[in-house]
Amino acid sequence: MSKRDYYDVLGVSRGASADEIKKAYRKLAIKYHPDKNPGDKEAEENFKEAAEAYDVLSNPEKKQRYDQFGHAGMGAGGGGAHGFSMDDIFSQFGDVFGDDGVFGSFFGGGGGRSRRSVGSNIRIKIKLTLPEMKSGVEKTVKYRRMVQAEGVKYATCKQCNGSGAVRRVQNTFLGQMATNSPCPVCSGMGKIIESKPKEANEQGLISQEIETSIRIPGGVAEGMQLSMNGKGNYGPGGGAAGDLIVLVEGIPHEELTREENNVIYHLWLSFSQAALGDSVEVPTLDGKVRIKIDAGTQPGKMLRLKGKGFPDLNGYGTGDQLVVLNVYVPTKVSSEEKTLLEKLGESDNFKPSAKEKSFFDKLKDLF
Ligand code: ZN
Repeated sequence: MSKRDYYDVLGVSRGASADEIKKAYRKLAIKYHPDKNPGDKEAEENFKEAAEAYDVLSNPEKKQRYDQFGHAGMGAGGGGAHGFSMDDIFSQFGDVFGDDGVFGSFFGGGGGRSRRSVGSNIRIKIKLTLPEMKSGVEKTVKYRRMVQAEGVKYATCKQCNGSGAVRRVQNTFLGQMATNSPCPVCSGMGKIIESKPKEANEQGLISQEIETSIRIPGGVAEGMQLSMNGKGNYGPGGGAAGDLIVLVEGIPHEELTREENNVIYHLWLSFSQAALGDSVEVPTLDGKVRIKIDAGTQPGKMLRLKGKGFPDLNGYGTGDQLVVLNVYVPTKVSSEEKTLLEKLGESDNFKPSAKEKSFFDKLKDLF
């Protein structure tokens, strides 16, 4: 099933303000709220879809990426309503309703919903080559995670009567305040394990190898983390799963290095190539390109191959490839070469004039 455009989901224009986006989400959340549509699967899907759209469009960084790359830019498996559990929605977006009590007045205090336990996150590393970081790539990864074991039998927790929360009333200077905290007996599950197969751990979970595909957007860099909702360990007792956090590591390139969104390449020219000019092939992240070396090229000169760098993840253009020109001075010469060089050395052309010297000195300061 292809995903609907997030702006269409919320029914707002691309130019909508943060406030308009929030209002639109609030309206949909009220319309499709599960308390208002008990047992209605379609309403639940709509509710999740709206929450996912709001999660992206209310976050400036995610919104910018979505505006540029669409769903593909959301990386990590492309997100998906399935990535959001109802608990995530209530815990993440409570604030939408919190400020003016809309939520409370409609649903008699939605905050009373018990917060089921959430599984832990799993961290893995993924190694990418520079070309993969430039173009983006889809990778399949295998890892182990804790999932619900089959055959676990539960009984309702007597301490909290299955709500998973205990209510505590405290006296404060503002008067009496009631707070809900997770039940200490069942750790918020609302139920306790009555019997379980022996492979399962004390939380009723079992380790399983899973394979998942991760879509990595072009422009990622070493050290970045991508997060995939719900791909981490399951929470005990059917609680929401944690996230899979994918840390990007770089595989060094043989000839090219990265500096922010630019690519740096050091080209070594022979003395005669620099003096006479040449046409030379240089490697780039998308294969070789031919560049022209002008006659009289000085060491330290830099050529810029526009747009041959990395795309900016937030849509601020694309980096360049910088080709730094170096001139190789031979470390040993034959006697015949020595005679030739000595002869050339007598020519005034082989010494910079005072004017050139000051120009080259300035050039050096630039790099
Ligand atoms: Zn309990």
